[in-house]
Amino acid sequence: MKTWDVIIIGGGIIGLSLSIALRKRGARVLVVERGEPGREASYAAAGMLVECSLETPALLQPLATASARMYPEFVHELQDESGVDVDLRDAGTILFPPPEHVHERAGFSAESLLPAPLAQLEPALGDVTRPAIFLQERSVDPRALGAAAVKAAKHRGVDVSSGSEVTEILISDGSIGGVRTDKTSYAAPVVVNCAGAWAGNLGPQRFPTRPVKGQMLSVVGGPRNTPRHVIRSPEVYLVPRSDGRVLIGATVEEAGFDQRTDPATIEQMHRAGLRLIPTLGGARILEACAGLRPGTPDNLPILGATATPGYFVATGHFRDGILLTPVTAHVMAQVVTGAKPEYDISAFSPVRFQV
Ligand SMILES: Cc1cc2nc3c(=O)[nH]c(=O)nc-3n(C[C@H](O)[C@H](O)[C@H](O)COP(=O)(O)OP(=O)(O)OC[C@H]3O[C@@H](n4cnc5c(N)ncnc54)[C@H](O)[C@@H]3O)c2cc1C
Repeated sequence: MKTWDVIIIGGGIIGLSLSIALRKRGARVLVVERGEPGREASYAAAGMLVECSLETPALLQPLATASARMYPEFVHELQDESGVDVDLRDAGTILFPPPEHVHERAGFSAESLLPAPLAQLEPALGDVTRPAIFLQERSVDPRALGAAAVKAAKHRGVDVSSGSEVTEILISDGSIGGVRTDKTSYAAPVVVNCAGAWAGNLGPQRFPTRPVKGQMLSVVGGPRNTPRHVIRSPEVYLVPRSDGRVLIGATVEEAGFDQRTDPATIEQMHRAGLRLIPTLGGARILEACAGLRPGTPDNLPILGATATPGYFVATGHFRDGILLTPVTAHVMAQVVTGAKPEYDISAFSPVRFQV
């Protein structure tokens, strides 16, 4: 029977990127994915790389900053190995803060000042008189990122088993022995749970992850009616892609594992998007979709070793999983291979939820 050094449960962007980082350290890795790799939350995401926001928990800031800095190199490598362009854009973000935060620059630095008058910076904006902040943030196309990660992982020799649902994590003599799927069993002394919103459904220890639904839509227009920048407002955000698509999102809903879209909600977001960029009225609606973010009770990810030797967790990235992918892959590969982690992840330990 073939064995691996590490089995990763879940082929989302977190599991795939970790598989590559572990492979680089010489590990033989198997990714076991229930459906198609990269088709769940990592497919629904907008791809904003929000390094600093009023919603970023303070404890997460060092990892968010580190990951944002790692992005260009991370993307460069993935593109190089996969031949897939992941549309890393660095035009920046125009942020319309909520009215209650207009006068406080909490969390924003001097570079937040607009580099040019709004009408010049983003001529397509409907209202250029609203107070705004400029942020030097990037964005990426998460679907392309997922496709690139699958290709790069396979290129590096990672085994990927698609259409296999892990039903049990196998333990022998108190240590990890592998996983059982709906079809067969796979053996390895180390298992990493990267099952996103579903991570809490798997033993041996249960984690309080929960799905947080996000609905969004995308439109496609010509170059004259699409914005150049990411635009964030309290109502919606708009994320342009270089191929002319613009994503408009997103809801944050406690709706269990329901992934249906609601036409009235989609229309409401569409109208809010058009208020920001009226010329998008001429753009065709391409799709409406919904994804499940992996949420946790304290809005912090779950990263590190569990009480069971050989069992690790990397999930709970909630609204920032695309941003946090490079640093998660980097630091978790260190932890799993027994190296000293370059970043302090003790606050994210799975053990905090173990009683
Ligand atoms: C609408 C929306 C917008 C978002 N926008 C952004 C953004 O702009 N920026 C940002 O940084 N983040 C954003 N996010 C968050 C981001 O998408 C997630 O944090 C990230 O994708 C989580 O990645 P993951 O690999 O942990 O989860 P997933 O991509 O969900 O992957 C988990 C995988 O595990 C598999 N799986 C589950 N159970 C099993 C099992 N038993 N056996 C085998 N496989 C299993 C699933 O099929 C899935 O493929 C957004 C999310 C949503 C929904």
